[in-house]
Amino acid sequence: MNNCIFCKIAAGEIPSAKVYEDSDMLCFKDINPAAPVHLLLIPKIHFDSLAHAQAEHQTLLGKMMLKVPQIAAEAGLSNGFKTLINTGKGGGQEVFHLHIHIMGTPA
Ligand code: AMP
Ligand code: ZN
Repeated sequence: MNNCIFCKIAAGEIPSAKVYEDSDMLCFKDINPAAPVHLLLIPKIHFDSLAHAQAEHQTLLGKMMLKVPQIAAEAGLSNGFKTLINTGKGGGQEVFHLHIHIMGTPA
């Protein structure tokens, strides 16, 4: 077992405040929110970052991007939202399991 905190969250070994889950991905509340709504959407499989994505991840990444507006709407962000993917140390990434930040203020 690797030592990745988001893999452990995906496996249910570390608790999280889940807002969405299916066979491919999991979305949960950021533990240190930078906005009134701050969610993290992760793939259940591990890859370190967007810079580590391969052609085999194309369908998964597409599914995740298409799920973002649905999750945002269900979180009350009907007026709009921000998405952010930090990539690499120079990009501000702290957890090296790909994740999409979804942030906003409910309307
Ligand atoms: P990044 O800088 O893009 O790697 O963002 C990592 C994010 O993960 C930060 O916003 C953290 O607050 C968040 N985070 C770290 N550990 C946890 C955790 N156990 N549960 C929820 N969010 C976490
Ligand atoms: Zn991981």
